[in-house]
This record gives sequence, C-alpha cells and structure tokens, in this order.
Amino acid sequence: MANSDLIVKFWGTRGSIPSSMQPGEWSRHFEALIKGFFASGHKDPSEVAAYLGKMETPLVGGYGSSTTCVEVRSPRSQLIIDGGSGIRLLSERIMSGAVAGGKGPFHIYMTHYHWDHVIGLPFFTPHFLPGVQVHYYAVHPELESLIRGIFKKPYFPVPFESLPANIKFHVLEPRKPFQIEDMTLTPYKLDHPDPCWGLRVESGKASYAHCVDTEGTRVSREDMGEDLPLYQNADLMYFDAQYTFPELADKANWGHSAAQIGLDIAIREEVKQVLFAHHDPGASVQTIEEIRAQTREYYNWRIQSAKDSGSGASAVAWDFAHEGMEIHL
Ligand SMILES: [Zn+2]
Ligand SMILES: [Zn+2]
Repeated sequence: MANSDLIVKFWGTRGSIPSSMQPGEWSRHFEALIKGFFASGHKDPSEVAAYLGKMETPLVGGYGSSTTCVEVRSPRSQLIIDGGSGIRLLSERIMSGAVAGGKGPFHIYMTHYHWDHVIGLPFFTPHFLPGVQVHYYAVHPELESLIRGIFKKPYFPVPFESLPANIKFHVLEPRKPFQIEDMTLTPYKLDHPDPCWGLRVESGKASYAHCVDTEGTRVSREDMGEDLPLYQNADLMYFDAQYTFPELADKANWGHSAAQIGLDIAIREEVKQVLFAHHDPGASVQTIEEIRAQTREYYNWRIQSAKDSGSGASAVAWDFAHEGMEIHL
C-alpha cells in the first residue's frame, strides 16, 4: 500500500456470462503442461512448483471465470466498479477480515446493468450486515429501481426491503467529478448499446481509466468529444477486447471492441499501461493467447511504422487481464 496512490485489483475479467473451460479442455491443458515439464528435462516432482511458478499465471491457471468486478483502493478509500460474479470473491475477502476497511462504508459504481455486471450483487455479503453502509453510484437516473429489481422475488429469495444494511443511492452528473475521500471520480460515456458510463479514478498522482464495456466506435478525438479526458495520459486503462479485430466487422453494434482499437487510443493519448478484458465466454487459454499474439504483432508494427515515418509513438505497456491481477499505480 505504501508508495501507491492507487491499487487496482481485477476480481472478474470475463464478459457476457461467467464461464470456464470445460473439464475436457482443462484435461488437455494440464496434459500439455505436464508434457512441457518432462520435455524440458525435469524428472523430480519437487521441481513442479518452481517450473509452474516461472510461467505467467494465466498460462497455468487460465484467465478466470468471473465477470466484471474491479476494486480500486486509494490510501483512504475503496471503490468497487460493477457487481459481476467476481464481486463474490471480493466479498469473501472482505468477510475474512483480510481487506483494510472491511467494515465499510462500501462504495459501488455501476457502469451499466447488463447481467454480467449485476449478477454478483446479491452475493455481496455486506448487504446482509446490519447497519453497514453501502453506497451505490451511477449516472442512470433509475439507479435505485434497477438495483432493487435485482433482489426481486422470485429471482432472489431476499427482497431488497429486508436487507439489513444501510443502502444509499447517488445519481451522478455525466462528466462531473465527484469525491469519495481522497479519490476523484469522473464518469464518461462509452460506446455500448445500452448506456454504459466508464469511469476515470484519480488519487494523488495516479489515474485509472475504466473502459469496459465499449465498442470503441468513436476513435478520433473529434468523435470522442467531451469523453476524451477519460483516456488522456491515464496511468492504467482497462479496455474491452472481447473480439478479435476481424470479428469486429461481423459484430458491429454488439458493444465490444478489440485490442487493436484500444492500442490506437492508448498510443495517441499517451496512456502508460493498458489491460484488455471482457474475455469472450467461449475463449479458452489458447484462444486468448492467440489474440495476445495478434495484438503483439499489431503493436510492434504500429511502433515500427511510427518510427519509420519519423512521427514517433510513445511506448505502451499492455497485456490481457486475468482474475486476481493487481496493479499498483
Ligand atoms: Zn459486459
Ligand atoms: Zn454490457
């Protein structure tokens, strides 16, 4: 915590619906790992942990099954962005007492209300703790009725009215900064079929741009207009890359983007680091690795052609996010 103005933790990085590889796919994945262990000359089972430990986390354990939930912590506050199924894992951490500020108040910002962003909310245990403060924030004026609807019988056995927590709703003005302790939060509009409001979070010298879900249809500065400050000079941008670049043409107006679109924005707006997410529910480790390789090819070409033309392009650190990833800014 010391020396970090913001810590961003990703509790769910899938899109659309929680999903994992099927048992058969996992079996083939483990078979390949075991073959790799022996093929690299290892024989002793005591070397397994060290062998796997040297590999990148998702190459061993995958990218995770949970949908969007991001925790942002500053020295004095904590914010949760969206209540996808990943919020259950965060909730368990909070209840275990392992999280600073585990007694609340809790602040939850809603980008929008598609199933994959609300499905975990009934499983956020602080709702069931008497007197605990839970604050919801969103740009949508119908925030309260939308959240109440998630707890409606017979979709969920405990009606909203019976929840013992002290739950408050705060409707925000678009593009107008608001403050939670030492965090400044500003909602900006993304490109999505139902209105989806991304968020810029700033604390101290650090900035985080939350850009999921978005299709990235407005690419030029002119088209982005008053939503441009979401991206500019962000230390970390979290961007929707559910599809491959060729898939985008077939899936126009579905509301999701590709890594190449995010990279173009990041390079132009001098974003320092990008994490791509909202992984397709059908994407295996192998699929995401292939998309990652295509992205690497595009990025290298993009930087090289800028060099060749003498126009210059600022380097961007980028990767694909996996569940449990934590970034210190
Ligand atoms: Zn989504
Ligand atoms: Zn959505």
